[in-house]
Amino acid sequence: ALATGIVGLPNVGKSTLFNAITQAGAESANYPFCTIDPNVGVVDVPDERLEKIAEIVHPQKITPTSFRFVDIAGLVKGASQGEGLGNKFLSHIREVDAIIHVVRCFEDENITHVAGKMNPAGDIETINLELVLADLETVEKRLDRVARTRKSGDKEAIHEYDILVRLQKALADGKPARSVELDADERKTIKSLNLLTLKNMLYAANVSESDIAHPEENPYVQQVMEIAAEEGAEVVPISAQVEAEIVELEGEERKMFFEELGLKSSGLDRLVAAAYRLLGLITYFTAGEKEVRAWTIREGTKAPQAAGVIHTDFERGFIRAEVMSYADLMSAGSVAGAREKGLLRLEGKDYIVQDGDIITFRFNV
Ligand code: GDP
Repeated sequence: ALATGIVGLPNVGKSTLFNAITQAGAESANYPFCTIDPNVGVVDVPDERLEKIAEIVHPQKITPTSFRFVDIAGLVKGASQGEGLGNKFLSHIREVDAIIHVVRCFEDENITHVAGKMNPAGDIETINLELVLADLETVEKRLDRVARTRKSGDKEAIHEYDILVRLQKALADGKPARSVELDADERKTIKSLNLLTLKNMLYAANVSESDIAHPEENPYVQQVMEIAAEEGAEVVPISAQVEAEIVELEGEERKMFFEELGLKSSGLDRLVAAAYRLLGLITYFTAGEKEVRAWTIREGTKAPQAAGVIHTDFERGFIRAEVMSYADLMSAGSVAGAREKGLLRLEGKDYIVQDGDIITFRFNV
């Protein structure tokens, strides 16, 4: 299953954020693993289209889609050299598909800053450097091995060697592997190395409650935004502490709290949505009288594999997909109406499922 890891220096608010995530979490009964592993939390992906579809279909039940967050504590200066939890930490991070990098942008004299003073740019550099150094070690180890087979004229080894040299050069310059241009084939060649700095990353700028209505005015957030802009990364301002309070509230109370703070929606929802995009994920829906439900697939997934997310039998026995777009259902106002207008398409096994498709699968059992 897909997962996003949360990293950052100690005392930046990772656990506070992670606890808010776990409390806001999806029905844990559906996700037995998250009650076993305290470092894994499952979140529902907020999607207003679900409600809109439900208004038309009137199902008994609405089920959002979800994905995992992993709290990766223990990254400190020197982690790549075995400081702190060191390599154990790095192995956790290798398993995730994308990274949320939490940066401390709140001031609080009572909470120690590991570097002695507030310095978001420096904090980011520290973390990113550890990840780069860990990757450099991985690449150099692999280079040693490939160099031997390359000498014997092995074509694949020659190809891989060339990629590794390019990666090594960037990493030795302190740049992430993601800065090296690689085509799909080259990516495949080095996939098994699981390089940390090849994973997509976004920054969560953790601000204090007083800044959450206008985070972009905070100079620390501005520092983070400048760095992110250079890297082409996204910044999500969030107040971990506020999120921790929000998850305790319900309905009206929550609305009032938002208004008090000048917020339109919870930061957690924005963070979840951003992480979802970061993972390259899209959503399709199934809509019946029993249940309207959102399902997660990677962009570019074909109809049979998309069906396989629901059940492997759906993929194996796939016949066709009956598809209408979310926009078409909304404009027609009813399923029958959409059908009459010819907005329901029959698609075969090569159809690439689009975000917002509403699908009924036909299959042999
Ligand atoms: P971690 O080490 O990165 O997991 O950081 P924690 O989540 O444990 O947070 C460290 C301390 O900072 C805790 O005492 C939190 O209550 C506090 N903290 C977290 N976020 C904020 C914030 O937005 N403002 C303030 N003032 N304190 C915060």
